[in-house]
Amino acid sequence: MSIDLAFWNNPYWEPLMITIGEITLIIIFGAIIVSLVLVIISLYSIKRKRLYFPKLIKSGLVFLEGLMKGFFRLLGLEDREMLSFFIKLHNSLNTSEFERIPVAERAIFLPQCLRSSKCPAHLTPEGLKCQACGQCTLGEARLLLEKMGYKIFIVPGSSFIKRMTKKYHPTAIIGVGCLTEVKEGIDMADKMGLVVMGVVTLKEGCVETLVNWSDIYDVATIGIDPALIPEDLHRLAG
Ligand code: SF4
Repeated sequence: MSIDLAFWNNPYWEPLMITIGEITLIIIFGAIIVSLVLVIISLYSIKRKRLYFPKLIKSGLVFLEGLMKGFFRLLGLEDREMLSFFIKLHNSLNTSEFERIPVAERAIFLPQCLRSSKCPAHLTPEGLKCQACGQCTLGEARLLLEKMGYKIFIVPGSSFIKRMTKKYHPTAIIGVGCLTEVKEGIDMADKMGLVVMGVVTLKEGCVETLVNWSDIYDVATIGIDPALIPEDLHRLAG
């Protein structure tokens, strides 16, 4: 009992608590100010369609994601715009690393919702086995991308991505899908140590969705010898 009293009566106790309180307040205010500055830079980047200080924003997101998302919402940025910005930011930071990875070590995951509703292909443990029947653009795109050296998977969900990357060990992947899928895929691939680039589809849904093929080709041709890029690629993209 007397030891307890001596502990609480220690003259250093009060100044210590005041110091801890002051440090906590400084950290909270510091985090708020840094988040606000990063959010302003992000909003300016979105407005100018150009990324400013991407590394700084990404580091901020690692530590202050919740706070920054709160500020984004407070300043009127919709969740979709926020996700789209995060994906662009991620792609921009990964571009130089992706560029150095040979095409033989890359894979592309396309969503099966891009296929025609009359698609005759069957789902296999490695995704949809496209028969290039000509009823949708997936057939020709797949052949062109494979000609470039890519391993292509047409898949119904991210569980396939995990399974196929464990089986084929690509170093880099391009994930195509709707905003939420791409963001989740990027987070998953990051955790798996893969260099990932995301491409968002133009139309969402489960059947006959749309993608701008030139968005995929712009990413797929990064770091590729121009001699290896099929001539038909840009015709199809157009
Ligand atoms: S081209 Fe391939 S994915 Fe498209 S409908 Fe035909 S078999 Fe299905």
